[in-house]
Amino acid sequence: MSTALIWHERLMWHDTGQLFGPAGEHHWFEPYPHLESTDGKRRIKNLIDASGLAESLQILSPQPVTRDQVMSVHTAEHWEHIAALSAQSRGGEGTVNSTTTPVPPGGLDNFLLSAGAAVTAVNQVMESQVSNAYALCRPPGHHAQTERVMGFCYFNNAAIAARHAQKQFNIERIAFVDIDVHHGNGAEEIFANDSSVLTISIHQDRHFPRDTGGVVTAADGFNNNLNIPLPPASGTAVYRLAFEEVVLPALEVFKPQLIFIPCGFDASGHDPLGRMLLNSEDFRWMTKLLMGAAEKYCGGRLVLTHEGGYAPHLVPFLAHAVFEELAGVESPVKDPFLAALTSPWAAEILPHQRDMVAAAADSVALLQQ
Ligand SMILES: [Zn+2]
Repeated sequence: MSTALIWHERLMWHDTGQLFGPAGEHHWFEPYPHLESTDGKRRIKNLIDASGLAESLQILSPQPVTRDQVMSVHTAEHWEHIAALSAQSRGGEGTVNSTTTPVPPGGLDNFLLSAGAAVTAVNQVMESQVSNAYALCRPPGHHAQTERVMGFCYFNNAAIAARHAQKQFNIERIAFVDIDVHHGNGAEEIFANDSSVLTISIHQDRHFPRDTGGVVTAADGFNNNLNIPLPPASGTAVYRLAFEEVVLPALEVFKPQLIFIPCGFDASGHDPLGRMLLNSEDFRWMTKLLMGAAEKYCGGRLVLTHEGGYAPHLVPFLAHAVFEELAGVESPVKDPFLAALTSPWAAEILPHQRDMVAAAADSVALLQQ
């Protein structure tokens, strides 16, 4: 058994343009490449090739998903909106009020291929071709809601793949453990009150989206979603506590048959869109813990979808650690940033951080009821 990497050069051609920022007056904005760029993703593949790790992986091309597969989690209006913008010769804005998620001309083809990468990963894992699979999706998907593009995401790749797993392989219980530094709001909304999918998101508190991601309480009404919002400047020790007190206990209660990791690398200590302190060894142990959970409950079945990560110099080393762990191989690669990002503060748990994890741990009881 081995690890699959679902990769396609076309996904690197998704064009997010030169205008990054909120809508409105841009007269004073000197054009600058959008932060969701090709660099951080292609450099992952480059490092895997250069290190020789690629020889230990099964590297596969995806097939695009169909309109029907998209419609398993999105509305017809959402499809029509994106398809119409994609068909315009100059493309258009994916949302009325934002330039952050533009639909480039012909963008629909890449959106379908990106979701197809996640579906291909599911097929590989469910057909026991590999133990686990990583879909290097681009564009990402975890902010996309039923009928709303958001945060560089158009279609929810992992959610489409989860519905595919349920339909094609009769999977009854799927768990999402979203480790991107931003809230996995898309899956939360798409699977709200669907008892077959437990969504867990561990993310920076009060970050993005602005109005979602708080700890779930009984007063909110449990909708099969658990949020673990962590204060900025959380590092190794806080994340470990969150896994031990919330993530792993929740998986023990739910006992999924398949685990998805919407995998963002923007909780690193160098990311411009996050304020956390993680390093490559943290991504390694998080992968190891979730592989252990997958082994315990799902026969090892684990599907990772690429989400955020905006430090192109660092992301390849974070991802390389994940791939080494997934494939169970060692390589000569040494993360040149590991020492700089091994901060003594990352080993501390401050009172307000402990309180946040404790509050999130309380919400696991809602799952048990
Ligand atoms: Zn993110």
